[in-house]
Amino acid sequence: MLTLSANNQEKSSILIIYTGGTIGMVEDPKTGSLEPFDFEHLVDHVPELKDVNHLYTSIQFTPPLDSSQVGPQDWAKMAKAVADNYDNYDGFVILHGTDTMAYTASALSFMLENLSKPVIITGSQLPIGRFRTDGKENLITAIEIAAAKKEGIAIVPEVCICFQEYLLRGNRCKKVNADYFEAFETFNYAPLAHIGVEIQIDEEFVYKPATTKPLIPHYNMDPNVIALRILPGITPETLKGILSIPNLKGVAMETFGVGNAPSFPWFIDILKEASARGIVIVNVTQCMIGSVAMDIYDTGDAMLQAGIISGYDMTTESAITKMMYLFGEGFAPDKVKEYMKCSLIGEMTIHNTKEN
Ligand code: ASP
Repeated sequence: MLTLSANNQEKSSILIIYTGGTIGMVEDPKTGSLEPFDFEHLVDHVPELKDVNHLYTSIQFTPPLDSSQVGPQDWAKMAKAVADNYDNYDGFVILHGTDTMAYTASALSFMLENLSKPVIITGSQLPIGRFRTDGKENLITAIEIAAAKKEGIAIVPEVCICFQEYLLRGNRCKKVNADYFEAFETFNYAPLAHIGVEIQIDEEFVYKPATTKPLIPHYNMDPNVIALRILPGITPETLKGILSIPNLKGVAMETFGVGNAPSFPWFIDILKEASARGIVIVNVTQCMIGSVAMDIYDTGDAMLQAGIISGYDMTTESAITKMMYLFGEGFAPDKVKEYMKCSLIGEMTIHNTKEN
């Protein structure tokens, strides 16, 4: 464990990218509903920022977005903001709504190839201007972590979500709570840091870039990808209808337990036919914890024969954004399948990488 404290911190420069979300919202006095506000307003509520030991600059999305409105084009804007400013800053903090934060974190982890600086995403459950807000500590801690260096080298050179007590790998995250401050978890991966009286970084779990190559940003994300939750009682019409969506390229199929689904011949036939048409179907589990293992039961085996591939312990958020990225790069279905079985940037617990 490495403990970050104000004394062992080298001075860093940080770019804050404010995209919106509850952290910067204010209440409309007439309707009582929350509306996004600009960054200056947000900073007014955090006088502590003046005491932060690092230099920071900010840019903001205009208008700031509720994260339910954020999509691939906004991820591209965030990736571009990082890439355009990459050489001028030691780390990046992205302020973002919590609702789709896990998708954004997953997407950026694929879009920022060869990242060697921290991109720390945070937000809050209560607006920063509210009494009892969780926004202040999330923001200040995110800055501390984005700034953390050891002998000039970033300590956490990956896309992460920093929220309450944990620093988490971005592409392993799920939003798990709409009511409580502890909103995110990475069920299949250990936290990268525990945030309490001290910030303790578990370096063992932090991604070690295997390369010193320059950052390569990728901006094209193909949106022709969906999540399909298998339910007891699913009908051939539903399955066929979904797999016949025009231009559909990829499906994160959420199955039961270790990757099980109905083994009716019609079910397997429909999947097989879609797979033969070039639709990439990745099997991910509906369970929070654990991995798909398609060789345990007959149904898994039948799906393997039908061309379905295992998503192991990847989250749906990660499987979806990884396919958007791979199709966005223009890869053919077979190549996408090959890469889906590899860990590109620590998104699944498997030792295949693009290089081996
Ligand atoms: N609706 C808000 C958003 O995701 C919720 C939040 O920030 O917590 O933008």
